[in-house]
Amino acid sequence: MAIDTNRFQAIISHCKEYGFIFPSSEIYDGLAAVYDYGQWGSELKKNIKDYWWKSMVQMNENIVGIDASIFMHPTTWKASGHVDNFSDPMIDNKDSKKRYRVDHLLEAKADELEKEGKPEQSDILLKEMDTLLAANDFVGLKKLIENNKIVCSVSGTGNWTDVRQFNLMFSTQMGSVSDESDTIYLRPETAQGIFVNFLNVQKTGRLKIPFGIAQTGKAFRNEIVARQFIFRMREFEQMEMQFFIRPGTQKEWYAYWKEERMKWHLSLGISPDKYRFHDHVKLAHYADAACDIEYNFPIGFKEVEGIHSRTDFDLRNHQEYSKKKMQYFDNELNQNYIPYVIETSIGLDRTVLMVLSEAYEEQDLSTADKKDSRVVLKFPPKLAPLKLAILPLVKKDGLPEIAREIMNDCKPYFRCFYEEKDTIGKRYRRMDAIGTPYCVTVDHQTKEDQTVTIRYRDTMQQERIPITQVKSKVLESII
Ligand code: ATP
Repeated sequence: MAIDTNRFQAIISHCKEYGFIFPSSEIYDGLAAVYDYGQWGSELKKNIKDYWWKSMVQMNENIVGIDASIFMHPTTWKASGHVDNFSDPMIDNKDSKKRYRVDHLLEAKADELEKEGKPEQSDILLKEMDTLLAANDFVGLKKLIENNKIVCSVSGTGNWTDVRQFNLMFSTQMGSVSDESDTIYLRPETAQGIFVNFLNVQKTGRLKIPFGIAQTGKAFRNEIVARQFIFRMREFEQMEMQFFIRPGTQKEWYAYWKEERMKWHLSLGISPDKYRFHDHVKLAHYADAACDIEYNFPIGFKEVEGIHSRTDFDLRNHQEYSKKKMQYFDNELNQNYIPYVIETSIGLDRTVLMVLSEAYEEQDLSTADKKDSRVVLKFPPKLAPLKLAILPLVKKDGLPEIAREIMNDCKPYFRCFYEEKDTIGKRYRRMDAIGTPYCVTVDHQTKEDQTVTIRYRDTMQQERIPITQVKSKVLESII
């Protein structure tokens, strides 16, 4: 597991310098693990979300989308198990009073061992951790921390409390008077909005099993260790799909969605050796099988998506708590049943970080007589914030007018950028740094033969093409 902290820091700085991602409320020194997307980051994020939506909803005739509220009836979270079970084992350092997630402390130690060239010890540690977590063995987990001489990064001591559970949901009050009974939660996952609407959607859409319901939206978790940029945030966005199936068919559908989701990841142009599956040993309270798709971030292999076989856990519990039937009548079997569910759940922000990590490249372009370099973001054109920059070579001689005409012709179809300031070289570099795949330059020859120079971001090669081909060339690459 190659960890490249410098590269990670360089990506974070680049994101801030070029308008992708800022710390939230930065003028007040920020808010821990909360981030804002700037002008290019929000375009990138939207493009990724649209691409997911297109692949999941538009391309699958048996999947529909919804948009449920963040606030839900509080009983939802009782039924889903989140009130009782959505907690992580935590441990506090008595000297610094700092709280840690036990698995994060142990994983950090495993990373350290790996860096020290002790991969076997690292593996053994992770396996022991998995076994203890699966058994909810809190005493064993504390011992494992102590035996590995893990210390608090603030106090430097190993003076630990016992391991305890800590609920990750944020709560707030609905209405004007604060009272226990008014407590509601900010949803910690979008999935429950789909489950409670299962019958509304199935009936009004006359959907037949197997079918899926997808949605994207914000989720909130009071993460304890949240210091990995947008990898782990307290407010983040998920893109989830719940696929409803006949009980007993969950194994095949789980395998099917594992494969489909990996294909989606590879369709981003990322090489297969950057991904791996991690099968869960300790299953969440709702699952009978689960795995993560992990991507090799600059901070190591980490989860970007989870695929879970959720059985009928959620619908059955909602039926019990709401006293409303959550059943489906299967015409072919002539039988009522509560469907089983396969879930695919991917973090939008983690996908943004994955796409940024993959795209970021520092290039040395020095020649014998000149030092030169550039930072380029090699986004797939369909995800790039801007698709095309239109640049008149000079601000006179009628060139801006021609460039404006191209801009007006293209901007209804995709996001374009017009710029006339600075040398053409500087303008190209700025476009490289935000990942714009194409630049067209309008020069004096354009006036004579209606051609422009198109420059390709990745190769930096240039060619002349007729103005009439610009739009279709860009469009072909972003569909
Ligand atoms: P982790 O083990 O990293 O905390 P998880 O297994 O709890 O993640 P899930 O509940 O399966 O995550 O959520 C599905 C997806 O939502 C994750 O794969 C991840 O991409 C995203 N996600 C979860 N928590 C966060 C977070 N705090 N910040 C950003 N994305 C998150």
